[in-house]
Amino acid sequence: RFITFEGGEGAGKSTQIKKLADRLKAARMRILVTREPGGSPGAEIMRHLVLSGMGKLLGPEAETLLFAAARDDHVRTVIQPALSQGIWVLCDRFADSTRAYQGSLGRVPDGLINAMQRVTIGDLKPDLTIILDLPVEIGLQRAAARRGSATPDRFEGEDLKFHQDLRDAYLKIAAEDPARCALIDANSDPDTVAGRVWTALRERLLP
Ligand code: C5P
Repeated sequence: RFITFEGGEGAGKSTQIKKLADRLKAARMRILVTREPGGSPGAEIMRHLVLSGMGKLLGPEAETLLFAAARDDHVRTVIQPALSQGIWVLCDRFADSTRAYQGSLGRVPDGLINAMQRVTIGDLKPDLTIILDLPVEIGLQRAAARRGSATPDRFEGEDLKFHQDLRDAYLKIAAEDPARCALIDANSDPDTVAGRVWTALRERLLP
């Protein structure tokens, strides 16, 4: 099974992935936790390029192609081999991030995004996508608290409009593919949210 996690700033993706991973491990399931951009040695280099100042030198289309290269390597060398061994893969961000960040926010045309997805993903579709949703102001407060005095990456500015558009993009994705996407209210304490994630997984993936 292939499970992806999506959400904006401060939604709690890392916390929830860890909690779900612990629960699945306790049930003696074989799992792999990975992330995008990155997740393989080659793709982590591209993550660094995109998230460091160097990413600013690229236009949105070139940046999308760099994400495509990263995803292609990650899918071929990490995700597919694990899935073919029956390992459950939990991935922090995947194709929906491309649609939300590069597509909706970066205004990269659907044609390029679709072509990129065809090449990198082909028929690989997550069995379940957990979309963690919460009001933008609360997500930004959480992210600022976590960050302390560290410098935000270039996407993490406190630009409310950017983050509101991001939330709207994820709400649209969830509405368009309700069979795959579980929209989870992430505006509660971590254990309560983890309970909601578990319920969604049990209803959709466990017999
Ligand atoms: O999930 P995480 O916060 O580590 O992601 C790193 C950053 O990469 C995020 O701030 C997000 O804004 C950005 N990103 C992006 N396009 C993607 C995936 C992630 O701009 N397709």
